[in-house]
Amino acid sequence: MLQLGKSEKAFDEAKRYMPGGVNSPVRSYRSVGSNPPFISSASGSRIYDIDNNEYIDYVLSWGPMILGHANPEVVASLQEAIPRGTSYGAPTLLETELAKKIQAFMPSMEMVRLVNSGTEATMSALRVARGYTGRDRIVKFVGCYHGHSDSLLVKAGSGLATFGVPDSPGVPKGVAENTITLPYNDIDAVKQLFDEMGDTIACIIVEPVAGNMGCVPPVEGFLETLRDVTKAHGALLIFDEVMCGFRASSGGAQKLYNIKPDLTCLGKIVGGGMPLAVFGGSSKIMSEVAPSGPIYQAGTLSGNPVAVTAGLATLSMLQRDPTIFKQVEDSTKALCNGLEELAKKYNVPAVVQRVGSMFTLFFTDKPVHNFDDASACNADHFKTFFHHNLSHGIYYAPSPFESNFVSMCHKGAEIDKTLAVAEEAFKMIS
Ligand code: PLP
Repeated sequence: MLQLGKSEKAFDEAKRYMPGGVNSPVRSYRSVGSNPPFISSASGSRIYDIDNNEYIDYVLSWGPMILGHANPEVVASLQEAIPRGTSYGAPTLLETELAKKIQAFMPSMEMVRLVNSGTEATMSALRVARGYTGRDRIVKFVGCYHGHSDSLLVKAGSGLATFGVPDSPGVPKGVAENTITLPYNDIDAVKQLFDEMGDTIACIIVEPVAGNMGCVPPVEGFLETLRDVTKAHGALLIFDEVMCGFRASSGGAQKLYNIKPDLTCLGKIVGGGMPLAVFGGSSKIMSEVAPSGPIYQAGTLSGNPVAVTAGLATLSMLQRDPTIFKQVEDSTKALCNGLEELAKKYNVPAVVQRVGSMFTLFFTDKPVHNFDDASACNADHFKTFFHHNLSHGIYYAPSPFESNFVSMCHKGAEIDKTLAVAEEAFKMIS
């Protein structure tokens, strides 16, 4: 059985110095009612904790590590870069190189700005949309997470299309009111809202494949409708591909579904495991950003040479060998098919949703299209499944409302072991 003695001690001490003992809430394992392993190292498909437990990792730092942990090429490039200095606060050749690579994967990103987190990318993209259109209202969807900036930390009020209410103390009511929230995948609600007030809306921001209520693909026509109504009303369409970029396909959801957004936000994989994120879009819109335009945005560590090096090394590998995407997707498919078959075999109501190399096992008997569907899943089954897996060396996201990820290092042996552990978990639940 899993021994976590050292991690438990470490957690007790951490709680004295950091709220909840962590630097991001979901790491605390509160939603699964246990304590988190403290991680000491990671390599390939595996992470290791301070009690010397080994896990096959499907969290992958919440998505970035598509090449596996400590990929030798990425590590070597960092080892070469670090002695040259870790931050200059001045332009480098690396930044242009990364911008070009991003554009090669996602041609809609003609111009980009590099930032340090997904939160910064989405916050800045909203400012650009508001500055560009001269409008304040934005639209987001319930269950989509775009980081923790005020405008986006907003939940739905009562009613279908609602002006938002703060989702956290500290978010001003006046800010939340400018965020309109709609149910994900609800085409009619989008059309109705834009019929009523489309000309006052600056933008729609959407996870084109939702990952933060678990993995929820867009229903047919949803993204097309977003594109149509924004275009018709002079609003911008922002794809938040922080999670699904380089996961839904090599060119993200925009390539997979063939929809061109006005602005795109990237994070996670684009930084190769370092703090780096990006927002960008057409040259016409991005030229409005300072210093070429009046919309202010800046950052001391933005374009940091170490972070950009990790991102470049990662994207270079993916560009040089695009079969990596297929290989990772094939492994994800094999795992998801296996999980679905096992659930069936043991009569456990479960649906596995996957797009590219991101997936979620939902304990429910019908497809999950939105946050209400995700919330209706069986939380007890999830907990049993999660804890059995963790204690047998399989590390899934510690919440039912998350996506899991597969890397290039998850091969047949890892998938087989994962399915063998899953079989025992399904037996327990059935
Ligand atoms: N957007 C999406 C879709 C995300 O999944 C996340 C984080 O998980 C963010 C934005 C925020 O990114 P960060 O945690 O880097 O601030």
